[in-house]
Amino acid sequence: MQKEIVIIGAGLVGSLLSIYMAKRGYRVRVYERRSDMRRVAMQAGRSINLALSDRGIKALHKVGIMDEIRSISIPMHGRYIHAKDGSHVQQAYGKSGQFINSVSRGELNKKLMDLAEQHQVQFYFEHKCSHIDFEQGHVYFETANDGAIEPVQADLIFGSDGAYSAARLSHQLQQDRFQYQQYFIDCGYKELTIPAGPNGTFLLEQHALHIWPRKDYMLIALPNLDGSFTCTLFFPYEGAQSFEQLKTDADIQGFFEAEFADAIVHMPDYVQQFKRNPTASLVTVKCYPWIKNDRFALIGDAAHAIVPFFGQGMNCGFEDCDVLDELMTTWGEDWTKILEEYQRLRKPDGDAIADLAIYNFVEMRDRVADPRFLFQKKIEGLLHETYPDRWIPAYAQVTFSPHIRYSEALANGQKQEAIMQEAMRTPDLESKWQDPAFLAGIIEALEQKS
Ligand code: FAD
Repeated sequence: MQKEIVIIGAGLVGSLLSIYMAKRGYRVRVYERRSDMRRVAMQAGRSINLALSDRGIKALHKVGIMDEIRSISIPMHGRYIHAKDGSHVQQAYGKSGQFINSVSRGELNKKLMDLAEQHQVQFYFEHKCSHIDFEQGHVYFETANDGAIEPVQADLIFGSDGAYSAARLSHQLQQDRFQYQQYFIDCGYKELTIPAGPNGTFLLEQHALHIWPRKDYMLIALPNLDGSFTCTLFFPYEGAQSFEQLKTDADIQGFFEAEFADAIVHMPDYVQQFKRNPTASLVTVKCYPWIKNDRFALIGDAAHAIVPFFGQGMNCGFEDCDVLDELMTTWGEDWTKILEEYQRLRKPDGDAIADLAIYNFVEMRDRVADPRFLFQKKIEGLLHETYPDRWIPAYAQVTFSPHIRYSEALANGQKQEAIMQEAMRTPDLESKWQDPAFLAGIIEALEQKS
């Protein structure tokens, strides 16, 4: 008999998952707390665009939607780093031809929902999951109209309702020894917009991810199709330079003029935007188990919320779908096995990308402005160029190498970093770093560690 699948949350991951499941011939219903974003405007100031990279692309390809998504994406070939004095440097992301893509969260989500409906997925909006009865396979939803709690019967339930998942909470309350870790970094974020120039022109370099690193905080900007840029200020909540200190217009103005002068020339209303747009927190969530018997699994941010500094949260959630799909090919209808294997494979990878994202937070806001670090990256770039299969920088392993698991990328990156720290202590490095023997020595050291 055809299985009844209920997916909780019609975000990016729930919507993509529904397509994977419908393509397998299951009857799929997706329940979403919010209204249908195809009919109601999205709330301003909430992560408008995202970096889509190879893991996400692979998962979108598999369901045949990538060509459409490409048409709403802007390739970003590297980081464009803005110093305080207005000067800048550009750093390519990987080998030439490698890039990540700026894509609108809303457009991507809408396209995924449209495609899902073409595969007979049914969406129910304004249905907020309140709890799950795992024994009966009943999911309870509060509806917007009267707040009534309706049970929905399912053979298989996926919780893809994001970082503050109600499905996860319900699972936790009914699961002995449920492990749960929630960690907020000391920074929050606020979005600001650089509008398009005349005739939709881009006021900053279009094909780059812009970063204004300032040690304890940073501003980034990603391009949008209409010529605008969505900027995100990652900034401490408290302390000498922090949200709590920017109380008056003069405080905001003084801070931005000192730190981001070349950004605000393009943003005449930045003070109003700063006051109007919400400040949001950034959380890492790790939990275990992700599954219950053959009936329930967490997926996407509900299983592994991470901070956005590797641009991987969505990509990781999309990869969850891809992995589940491979397991369905291997195990057919044996859902006990599929879910066990899904958890066995994905839990270490979810943990690894969570840790990598925190390390990248430190790297992006602090180290990318350090000339010594930039020199190290230059050497690593040359190593990668000279030995493309033997030295793959951690960033490239995560972003451009979907065949390498996140957990392997983390372990490889740690080995490389230890070797590079040693190599950076080489006397007279400036004259040696391009010497083939020096580079070969680094590769040898790496292979001895492997
Ligand atoms: P969500 O997108 O959170 O979707 C969950 C859905 O469930 C929502 O629609 C919500 O309304 C619904 N829901 C919640 N509770 C209930 C309930 N009780 N009942 C029913 N429905 C419910 N990732 C990248 O890959 N690249 C990036 O560049 C990137 N940048 C980011 C920048 C910022 C500032 C932030 C905050 C995140 C960024 N991410 C990025 C991460 C990415 O946004 C998430 O990983 C991704 O949205 C996860 O998708 P999801 O579907 O699991 O969860």
